[in-house]
Amino acid sequence: MRMTMKSLALLACLSLSSGVAAQSSRIRLLATGGTIAGAQAKPGEYGYKSGTFNVQDLISAVPDLDKLAMISGEQVVNIGSQDMNDEVWLKLASRLNAALASPDVDGVVITHGTDTLEETSYFLSLVAHSDKPVVMVGSMRPATAISADGPGNLYNAVATASSSGARGRGVLVELNDEIHYARNVQKTNTSSVQTFSSVNRGPAGLVNTGKIRWFQPMDKRHGTTSDFSVDGLTKLPRVDILYAYPNMSVDLIDAAIKDGAQGLVIAGVGDGNMTQAALDRLAAAAKSGVVVVRSSRVGSGIVYRNNEVDDDKLGLVASGELSPGKSRVLLQLALTKTKDPRAIQTYFDEY
Ligand code: ASP
Repeated sequence: MRMTMKSLALLACLSLSSGVAAQSSRIRLLATGGTIAGAQAKPGEYGYKSGTFNVQDLISAVPDLDKLAMISGEQVVNIGSQDMNDEVWLKLASRLNAALASPDVDGVVITHGTDTLEETSYFLSLVAHSDKPVVMVGSMRPATAISADGPGNLYNAVATASSSGARGRGVLVELNDEIHYARNVQKTNTSSVQTFSSVNRGPAGLVNTGKIRWFQPMDKRHGTTSDFSVDGLTKLPRVDILYAYPNMSVDLIDAAIKDGAQGLVIAGVGDGNMTQAALDRLAAAAKSGVVVVRSSRVGSGIVYRNNEVDDDKLGLVASGELSPGKSRVLLQLALTKTKDPRAIQTYFDEY
């Protein structure tokens, strides 16, 4: 660990020696932990702990960050994102909205673990009501690793959040020189630095040493066009995800409902399918007021309404492009507004 701090201090010196240049953007950095703030016992050794370094350590470790923007840091939590939960989401949404409302902030960067970045980013994209840039960033290698990817990713994230081209695009995710829309991005590899992908659509843009190329705009509702708000909420409706497989029984469906789930997302086989027994039980659940969304465990493609399953007749919702994790986020927010599966299907079509 002593070596670790030494190398960070060295990077900090490099950063300071670069001098303070005139900069226009004022960026608020909200830190939540993750591998980007993680430390190994020794560089080059397998195994590390997420959320070890704090926000000032992260800022200091990136050479020339002060030439890109004026950065102010805030530590919201310091956890591995596998421990992300509704309480932290509500706190983070509130800190993000406060930062976005400040006349002293031009854009926000959020550091976050990569495990649940796809869910947190989508959640924030639906409840942060501003056109100012918001860029989420993580890393696959800890801060102490040989060839750590965090500093380069953070540099690119600050450049992206400082760019006028990022305005109105909603929450973005930056990693490994790619920029993704929160709605589309998925983690696709457990350990590679090339893990994030917008599987059905491709990235929103590319960024290399701070230089950005934008591709297609976002066509779905988010940010200032989102109906959802978590202002004043102290908790979110419970939604569970159930994974479909051959021989899927009804036991876990019953357990989830008995335990208080107001909504269920099925990570279905293929186009959101499941055994007839599971489908029958879910249709009965839907009739009793539990909202059921059919998504897919496949990882890409679209779950179509009324294809092999008669959603109209059974009162179910089809997830379209949304993965099980993102479907869960949208269903939690949808349930703050309505329990009507038709209205919720419209949300799935529009967001
Ligand atoms: N488990 C870590 C996290 O999500 C992984 C990472 O950040 O890459 O916090």
